[in-house]
Amino acid sequence: MTQSASIASCDDLARPVLRERGQREVFCGLTGIVWLHRKIQDAFFLVVGSRTCAHLIQSAAGVMVFAEPRFATAIMEERDLAGLADANEELDRVVDKLLERRPEIRLLFLVGSCPSEVIKLDLSRAAQRLSKKHSPAVRVLNYSGSGIETTFTQGEDACLAALVPDAPQSEADAPQSLLVVGALPDIVEDQFARIFADLGIKDVAFFPPRRSTQMPAIGPNTRFLIAQPFLGDTARMLEERGARRLPALIPLGAEGTTHWFKAAADAWGIDAGTFQRAIAPGRDRAKRALSRHRDALQGKSIFFFPDSQLEPPLARFLAQELGMRPIEIGTPYLNRDLLSAELEQLPADALLSEGQDVDLQLDRCRAARPDIIVCGLGLANPLEREGFTTKWSIELVFSPIHGFDCAGDLAGLFARPLARRAMLRV
Ligand code: SF4
Repeated sequence: MTQSASIASCDDLARPVLRERGQREVFCGLTGIVWLHRKIQDAFFLVVGSRTCAHLIQSAAGVMVFAEPRFATAIMEERDLAGLADANEELDRVVDKLLERRPEIRLLFLVGSCPSEVIKLDLSRAAQRLSKKHSPAVRVLNYSGSGIETTFTQGEDACLAALVPDAPQSEADAPQSLLVVGALPDIVEDQFARIFADLGIKDVAFFPPRRSTQMPAIGPNTRFLIAQPFLGDTARMLEERGARRLPALIPLGAEGTTHWFKAAADAWGIDAGTFQRAIAPGRDRAKRALSRHRDALQGKSIFFFPDSQLEPPLARFLAQELGMRPIEIGTPYLNRDLLSAELEQLPADALLSEGQDVDLQLDRCRAARPDIIVCGLGLANPLEREGFTTKWSIELVFSPIHGFDCAGDLAGLFARPLARRAMLRV
């Protein structure tokens, strides 16, 4: 176990960032399959991995396993290099059988993992080979969900980055179009689509699409808004296709969502009156919903362990709109470019930390005695036992939290554990 820590003042950031490299407590990128398989309805995720990977996927997604799940694990046993030809043949056989049994699949992801027997396999070549064999009915793509250098939300980034080259090129003279990037619940997408329509922005697509056959065209006329802060590779791939990102806050809360829509409105030259008319009803609803939680959350201190990369926008939302006091905002990786607007609005006295050395961070957390801790499942139970109130960060990725109409529910996710603890104390 290597443990090192350094305080670094970043060139591009006015505030110091504590960088730590040590033991980490995070899930791997395979976890993203749990929400991605529900989003892209004609896709199948075949994890090429070990029994551990199969167990992780089963337990993370277990509650959602129904008759025909759209994910599975092809288990690769330990084998030497001489056995790799067999492994490729075996994989081809598994894919053939799967596609024969499930003719509704249009897009197959081969998802790599970290066991050594899988790393030896060249999954991008396997995907090309299988795509050739099964096209045009099925496209086969690959990405890695390996836990070696990632945190669990990077699985979505890797998946969407793999999908970008698959999108058609837009016509050079096509009018400006908007792409919303990040897997969002359908209900949130529908709410966003209605507001874009009220703003008069007509050509709007969501990425990933609900069906792989509805892939939006991408090109220099594409402007995109990211809806999740962990999509650095996807953003880079889109920019390589000529698309331009509209810098904005992540659409959490009344302020974050207003800022996000404003970035699009400005790019489309929409006048202030139209913007107000389109935004005001949702913004007012969000503010009313948030006011119901303010008494419970105002002045409460909060400590974020690094897990989902959603920590900076969540901290900004909780501090700005509910008066909470973030003590430490830990994030596994800080994408300074995508989060530049967020970083400007974080409270100056909160410690921003990147990476993790879990023991040192636990020491800081215990010393600070926050009112609530946001952390992964592995830390939550022991911390609860020590008398702390916790919130599972993975729940924030599984729940609809974006946009005006989810703002109250998002605040409620933090208010409820505090209320529960208060009842236990009575
Ligand atoms: S990819 Fe690696 S970290 Fe994830 S379940 Fe498989 S073995 Fe574990």
